[in-house]
Amino acid sequence: MTTPGAADIIGHGELSLMQLDVARIAQVKGASLSAEGVVVLPDELGPGFAPKGPAEVHVTVTNTGRFLHAEGQVDLRLRVECVRCLESYELELAIPFAEDYLSAGKTARVGPDEEFLLYSGDLLELDPAVATSVILALPMKPLCREDCPGLCPRCGHNLKWGLCTCLAHADSASSPPEKEV
Ligand SMILES: [Zn+2]
Ligand SMILES: [Zn+2]
Repeated sequence: MTTPGAADIIGHGELSLMQLDVARIAQVKGASLSAEGVVVLPDELGPGFAPKGPAEVHVTVTNTGRFLHAEGQVDLRLRVECVRCLESYELELAIPFAEDYLSAGKTARVGPDEEFLLYSGDLLELDPAVATSVILALPMKPLCREDCPGLCPRCGHNLKWGLCTCLAHADSASSPPEKEV
């Protein structure tokens, strides 16, 4: 199983739209606006990652004179499956969010090392960038706790709740159980 790439999520089509009308600041250098909203993410962000409710987004957009700089935070709660013991636990993430948006009519002014998201009209669509930020912030190997001992390799007992009888009586009782899959 592979974790879906950000592009898969952007194309998913189940995202609610968080759009910001930037007409008030689009022509005024130094002007900014703040907004809050929610973004509904797909039911499963990847194997073992299920959002609990929508992500809450707080963002401030500032007109730098050349482009719009959006900066803020995405708060999200997830049900996550521990890679060692396979039990679900709750994970709360506060993900920093920062993107630069360039009006689609101004692309000729982009330098070679610059990366922008384009917008047209007066609407910034934040959902794709929010989803990407969330995907990138997911832990590679989520653990219910740092020292999760995992499952007994013989009987599958979750050793987090204490030793099983086969390990307690086996010769190999002193050797640690196999970690990770
Ligand atoms: Zn665990
Ligand atoms: Zn066992």
